[in-house]
Amino acid sequence: MTETYQNYIDGEWRDSETGETFDVKNPADTSEVVGSFQRSSEADTNGAIDAAASAEDEWADTPAATRGEFLRETAKRMDDREEELTETLVREEGKLRGEANGEVNRAIDIFYYYAERALDYAGERKKGAADQNLYYVREPMGVAGLIVPWNYPIAIPCWKMAPALATGNTLVIKPSKEAPNVLRKVFECMDEAAEEVGVPDGVINFVTGGGEDVGQAILNHEEVDTVSFTGSRQVGEMIYEQATDDHKRVQTELGSKNPTVVSASADVQEAAETVAAGAFGVTGQACTATERAIVHDSQYEEFVEALVEEAESVQPGFGLDDDSTMGPHVSESELESTLEYVEKGKEEGATLEYGGERLEGDEYDDGYFVQPTIFTDVDNDMGIMQEEVFGPFVGVTTYSDFDEAVELANDVEFGLSAGIVTDDHTEANRFVDEVDFGVVKVNEATTGLELHVPFGGMNASSSETYREQGEEGMDFFTIIKTVYDDY
Ligand code: NAD
Repeated sequence: MTETYQNYIDGEWRDSETGETFDVKNPADTSEVVGSFQRSSEADTNGAIDAAASAEDEWADTPAATRGEFLRETAKRMDDREEELTETLVREEGKLRGEANGEVNRAIDIFYYYAERALDYAGERKKGAADQNLYYVREPMGVAGLIVPWNYPIAIPCWKMAPALATGNTLVIKPSKEAPNVLRKVFECMDEAAEEVGVPDGVINFVTGGGEDVGQAILNHEEVDTVSFTGSRQVGEMIYEQATDDHKRVQTELGSKNPTVVSASADVQEAAETVAAGAFGVTGQACTATERAIVHDSQYEEFVEALVEEAESVQPGFGLDDDSTMGPHVSESELESTLEYVEKGKEEGATLEYGGERLEGDEYDDGYFVQPTIFTDVDNDMGIMQEEVFGPFVGVTTYSDFDEAVELANDVEFGLSAGIVTDDHTEANRFVDEVDFGVVKVNEATTGLELHVPFGGMNASSSETYREQGEEGMDFFTIIKTVYDDY
């Protein structure tokens, strides 16, 4: 029997007024239904926003230590349910157990991190005139509207919710329709923690449903002060325009087309492993995934051979099976989109060096499995080298001098994460200086982030308004008031 799950609004679990639900399925085996979720309407979302607005003043006046305690108590409960959260994530999103467990632990650590930060994020006193207190304080913005994607369905919500709550904001969050269950379980943990700590009803709200219903209701409601969105460029650009027209503060973190440069000085095996980790890890479904390898002429043939060997060693399968080394796509449409890019690559005249096929057979027929894919003989202006594929897909091109490598790396509209594999210290430093990407990795895969440093893109990858994560992640949710107090 399929379980039906509810929204969490104003301190209680509730059905949608629509009476309708949608099913979430395991992308490795679509005969397994994860659960049915509320197909919520604008009215449901407005109810959640009204609850968040009613709780706004009380939560803003709650001592920082209590806000921190709420986050810490939530983290403890998530920690107790770590294995369960990990398996839940695998069953709805498709990641490997190890990948999912890393993400769950990241989410737990994010809550612990902001539990501490809640205490020391306040403002600063400056030297003023004689007999004057001159200082500034940070106040919460109010109600935060958070719209999140499916590909990191626990980490991304947590890196938005924890800093919002630590700084005294109330929130309404809309998970993706593909993977809402793991966040629902975080809300179970938050509900228990709220009860224990005495958090007012309405501070946290979880509403499932479509972007056109729940997402749009968040954007349309005048009580929403901030909108933090992570997702595709197409949706994000529309949301940015809509939210700024309405004078909301908005932050959008979007897609990318990330390069890894392989220097003449690089160890070829290490370079191939680094590119494979960035390209095929999490099935290429990361905004920071490597989709372009830019390889020095002198290393090209050896590199392609080594990268093909890496691809051959990938064992696609269900994320909870120990021998799987790559999970499925999250959905049929994501699988179709990757396969369309394979066709596009061929039409554009690139050489399909490896993969590009949907996997078939007993283990695969009910899932969205694809082979890792490598294209060679690509030009940087081809569609497959300019547009985000969001699958295990990489194009390999060459360069002859370092300036050309940087030029190729920068020659896309996006700018999220760029890597270089090199033994040349000067090259590494020049790359850091000259590349127009918000994250730069030297001798590391383009994927993988630390939670205590800022994260965000440049150019079409981001609204460039604020950074997420680290202490800087709290700035978005606060506004500064400057006080001149003469005595
Ligand atoms: P998406 O844009 O399709 O959806 C993101 C969220 O927006 C979902 O909750 C969706 O329901 C909602 N939405 C859709 N249409 C809407 C509308 N009209 N109004 C309001 N909300 C709407 O993205 P996705 O497929 O879930 O996620 C994959 C994308 O996210 C990729 O492009 C990836 O690169 C990007 N991403 C970026 C980052 C980053 O930090 N830069 C991190 C992860 C993913």
